[in-house]
Amino acid sequence: MSSASSSSGRKLVLSTLLETDHYESLIKELTCTKCNRYMKSPIYLCVEGHSTCGPCYEKSYQCHICKKEFAQIRPKVLESLANKVLFPCTNEGCPKHATLSLLEKHAVHCQYRIINCFMARVYGECKWEGRAGEWMDHCFSIHKQRVTELPFITIKDKWDAKRTEPVLNYFLLKCYEKIFNVYQIYDRKGGRMMWTVLVNEEHSEKFYFEVDIFLPSLPSKRIVYRRPCKCERDADFLEHTQNVYIPVENIFSMLDENEYLNFTVRIDDEHKEK
Ligand SMILES: [Zn+2]
Ligand SMILES: [Zn+2]
Ligand SMILES: [Zn+2]
Ligand SMILES: [Zn+2]
Repeated sequence: MSSASSSSGRKLVLSTLLETDHYESLIKELTCTKCNRYMKSPIYLCVEGHSTCGPCYEKSYQCHICKKEFAQIRPKVLESLANKVLFPCTNEGCPKHATLSLLEKHAVHCQYRIINCFMARVYGECKWEGRAGEWMDHCFSIHKQRVTELPFITIKDKWDAKRTEPVLNYFLLKCYEKIFNVYQIYDRKGGRMMWTVLVNEEHSEKFYFEVDIFLPSLPSKRIVYRRPCKCERDADFLEHTQNVYIPVENIFSMLDENEYLNFTVRIDDEHKEK
């Protein structure tokens, strides 16, 4: 037997095992009967031997099942099982099984988690709710002007001094097998325009974005900036010095005769550089 087929065989045995009632009952033993969440170490016991997860224990003064007090001992075997067992992802339909620490990482990206359409947060006109894995298809059918499968997008943005929402534009570029979130933000107080690009990727800085502002009637006049992309999980992305910032008076000088700002945002993979 080749090693490839034996490893796929092992996978098959594992996935069959994970679906048995027997396995399900093991997971049940490791699920807190109070909050219904998977238990991880530390796990607490009452004097009758009922188990409770750490967060529920912190909030209680007695066992929720028998109403007796908690015991001084901890169930070491249960705790060590909780560290090793492959728990199923709780999002309906998701086939993922993993240890709790890996499952927590998975939860952030799980394609089966239910989300709202992110376009709604910026443009406020979409009520879609569904699985994360189906969101892009939704965008390609409903928000066609804001998504592309090319590594660049060109925008004509009408300048409107009355706009108060800071995010002027938000769009998605699906390229390099990733999804890049492009934001154009008007920082009114700071008197500047900002562009930033977020990607769901730990090594986001290996991707670059370029903002190229141009005047269609005067090709020699342009402003071009190149900056690294930011990771989606970076909460401070707005504060980054590595975004594109342009003073608003420079933006005014780039408006065309109809008061449109014309710009292209391009995503670049560092490895593709000459
Ligand atoms: Zn609990
Ligand atoms: Zn009890
Ligand atoms: Zn999942
Ligand atoms: Zn939508």
